[in-house]
Amino acid sequence: THFGFQTVNKDEKVKKVADVFHSVAARYDVMNDLMSFGIHRVWKLFTIELSGVRTGAKVLDIAGGTGDLAAKFAQRVGPEGEVVLADINESMLRVGRDKLIDRGLGHRVKYVQANAECLPFPDNHFDVITIAFGLRNVTDKDAALASMQRILKPGGKLLVLEFSKPQSTLLSKAYDLYSFRALPLMGKLVANDADSYQYLAESIRMHPDQETLKSMMLTAGFATVKYHNMTGGIVALHVGNKA
Ligand code: SAM
Repeated sequence: THFGFQTVNKDEKVKKVADVFHSVAARYDVMNDLMSFGIHRVWKLFTIELSGVRTGAKVLDIAGGTGDLAAKFAQRVGPEGEVVLADINESMLRVGRDKLIDRGLGHRVKYVQANAECLPFPDNHFDVITIAFGLRNVTDKDAALASMQRILKPGGKLLVLEFSKPQSTLLSKAYDLYSFRALPLMGKLVANDADSYQYLAESIRMHPDQETLKSMMLTAGFATVKYHNMTGGIVALHVGNKA
């Protein structure tokens, strides 16, 4: 396939991901609601609940994009806490910052342009790190997981929310049909950008399944890793604890 990662090199993937997110930034939120029928909000709420974030916590949302999770964390941590919204892509970060400012939460969040593979934060700093629908876009996922592990406090948690492997064959077939036919079509009609949504479908297909991601997190140094399938495994939430 033309964006298949087996056939493109690392620099091409980095460029492709940058182009896709510059291109979709302005319409990202509305497309998210459309494509997931709003269900991404439920997946994100579950992530917030499982994070256990309370007043005073230090939280990093990496690949945070337009700031859905950061907005919720900002309401939870209060003035003593710290919320960092980080993303590699300037356009996504700008849309996120503007949205949070509009909601009156802008001043409670720090915005950092950063690559998940080499995070510019001190060791043992955050109580909670989240990465939602971001890891599959990262070229060196092992480096990213190790980098997140390094900056978590001992006892801290990483939550990886990501598309995963549907648990039934029927669901898997329906989902393939949806993502390879309907997604690019919706991308074309709503955002006039079929290519970006084609990329999305392909990146979902290429992403490691539940057990593979779990073992990658263990290899990155997490002491324990659990995952929760949602919507039949279309999405999974992996939770890694640092000892
Ligand atoms: N977390 C948001 C959400 O759930 O709505 C945004 C998810 S969006 C599908 C993926 C984000 O990952 C984009 O904003 C993109 O710029 C970011 N991204 C891709 N590669 C990255 C990297 N290496 N480091 C940090 N962010 C990255």
